[in-house]
Amino acid sequence: MRATATLDWYGCATFRLVLPGEREDGRDLVVFLDAYVDRVPGAAGPGLRAEDIDRADWAVIGHSHFDHLWGAERIARQTGATVVGSHESVRILDGEGVPTAQLLPVAGGERIRIGRETHVSVFPSLHSCVWSHQGMAQAHEVCLGDLRVDWHGRQARMGDLFSWVASLGDETRAHLRASDQGARGDGGAFVYLFETPQGSLLYQDTSGHWSGILQDLRPDVAILAAAGRGNVDGEPVQGSLAQFVARQASLLKPGRVVLGHHDDWLPGFSVATDTKPIREELGRWLPRCELVETGYLAALEVFG
Ligand SMILES: [Zn+2]
Repeated sequence: MRATATLDWYGCATFRLVLPGEREDGRDLVVFLDAYVDRVPGAAGPGLRAEDIDRADWAVIGHSHFDHLWGAERIARQTGATVVGSHESVRILDGEGVPTAQLLPVAGGERIRIGRETHVSVFPSLHSCVWSHQGMAQAHEVCLGDLRVDWHGRQARMGDLFSWVASLGDETRAHLRASDQGARGDGGAFVYLFETPQGSLLYQDTSGHWSGILQDLRPDVAILAAAGRGNVDGEPVQGSLAQFVARQASLLKPGRVVLGHHDDWLPGFSVATDTKPIREELGRWLPRCELVETGYLAALEVFG
């Protein structure tokens, strides 16, 4: 019997996918989804640092913000992994000294063979409307308005957000300084679709999407980011995060949803998300879909 594909959650939106026997040499293929492992002291997480990761073949990065990309430079250097990410993510890693041969820049539309019978396809996506709030709302809270705010208005509100986050205390400030790789914005967000011998898996690391893209993907399992204010086709969701996640699931129609980005990874800014409203909304929109909450490093048998 074939060994089962597993998914380890490293907190925030970082996961490790292990596909048995999928390397060209017959060994297990190890794929990091995002690379943010380090945390502010005392924050929820796996209790590891990026320095602790000694095995990876690939790292796919959803977008260039520190809480997704920071760590990829060390993981790539330590393991020789190839990093797939936006041209902005690749620019940052090039500046960190990651060899060019280990950098695979994408813009959406690519299909990359990463294992014997495994491919990953890249699709354009959207970042959550992080400019529209300071601390994150709980999943049941209905958020309205903020429609048609132009680029300049959003930039001004992002400036307010940065000042506020920097006021969260010395440890947070030190963490933000250490993780600051000079990203020029999010670099463009992606969703990735893995096609493996055991099933297909969609990976999203921030709560945003283009509806027209999601509705054609039909993964067996979807990792969906549940944090902040959802972005629907460029505008903030008019409703709750729970409704946003459930609507995404109704577009994708997976058999299982695995939540990501919902833990309290940066206390003061993030919240420990109450997943009950998400479970209830999902039950209304897609009753046969299973919602999976996995613990840190729990080796979830991802395709069931
Ligand atoms: Zn982000």
